[in-house]
Amino acid sequence: MKINANYLSLSESYLFTEIAHRVAAYSKANPDADIIKLGIGDVTRPLAPVVVEAMKAAAAEMGQAQTFHGYGPEQGYGFLRDAVRDYYGSFGVTLQSDEIFISDGAKSDLGNILELFSKDNTVLVPDPVYPVYVDTNVMDGRPVQFMKGTEENGFCPLPKEGVKADLIYLCSPNNPTGAVYTREQLQQWVNYALEQDAVILFDAAYESFIGDASLPHSIFEIPGARRCAIEFCSLSKTAGFTGTRCGYTVVPQELEREGVQLKKFWLRRQTTKFNGTSYVVQRAAQAVFTPEGLKQCRENVRYYKENAQIIAGVLGQLHIFFTGGEHSPYIWMKCPRGMGSWEFFDFLLDKAHVVGTPGAGFGGQGEGFFRLTGFGDREKTKEAARRLLDVLG
Ligand code: PLP
Repeated sequence: MKINANYLSLSESYLFTEIAHRVAAYSKANPDADIIKLGIGDVTRPLAPVVVEAMKAAAAEMGQAQTFHGYGPEQGYGFLRDAVRDYYGSFGVTLQSDEIFISDGAKSDLGNILELFSKDNTVLVPDPVYPVYVDTNVMDGRPVQFMKGTEENGFCPLPKEGVKADLIYLCSPNNPTGAVYTREQLQQWVNYALEQDAVILFDAAYESFIGDASLPHSIFEIPGARRCAIEFCSLSKTAGFTGTRCGYTVVPQELEREGVQLKKFWLRRQTTKFNGTSYVVQRAAQAVFTPEGLKQCRENVRYYKENAQIIAGVLGQLHIFFTGGEHSPYIWMKCPRGMGSWEFFDFLLDKAHVVGTPGAGFGGQGEGFFRLTGFGDREKTKEAARRLLDVLG
């Protein structure tokens, strides 16, 4: 018997463990320090009331023989796929319901989708980015190339001549940088993918944070994308479903490689290895897409973005370079005074009792940068911003 030795090539995912360890050690040595955590990428606001009502009603249905639901369709109930289809329609994207696959979140689908592709494919991943893209490919033994996000390109790397790849990851709005691709920039990626016969894996987990009608919510707003892209989205950040779990993946009809419709492969994969998202959660997700649901969820998104703007305002006053915060819950700031990511982490913890995430944890290009999030409480965010001004002013 042989193990999958690719797992031995994974780099230790020590980022959040190391943060927890350093914060615990600091708290032990300084028990009176009032530490504010702006490091987490998890939501804190409760589910929208309409979502809770829908969950309660669905749970009641499950408790009655006449309305009980057993196994549902693996690709999701029609009522939710239609709701997602109509939601895409609201920003001008026409989808068929059978191009939409409901899941328990974007992370699982981002990992599982790789089963559709040969392990010989080459992969292009932005740096810095959400670490799941790299690790899931390393697990399969696929070679990963990086494209550099820098201050100069606003952390939105573009196709480069001479770079060849079969699978291209794009994340917009980006975690951790909060940077958003414009329509023109995404068109460049679509053109490149079509030329190279590549497939773009587009992560739109933060699309609902986009507040400018000129910026694309979906890669399918770009002509040609239906022939070269798969899109992943999630209700985690959009509607506070990080603990409730629901996402969706769009595989368009026209996406074919080697004469095969990838949608068929994905359906086959899901029907074989996945038994669907729970009925109660899908009813809750459906409520997100009602007019009242969208309104209530957008209020939470606005709250997080206002928090991010409070931090952004202070960084602006301090003349510190940053991206994000406008169409994203994340602020990606350059560490001041030439500090490294972890050095700044320790400095901020010690001097301001504020916790953030060292950029180095998101890739080599993240060294010298730092992520703060708007997912915290308003008063605590204001206090953290005051402290930042104090210690960096
Ligand atoms: N994609 C990005 C860019 C994320 O930041 C996250 C979560 O932090 C996910 C996907 C995973 O989302 P889900 O909770 O739906 O698995």
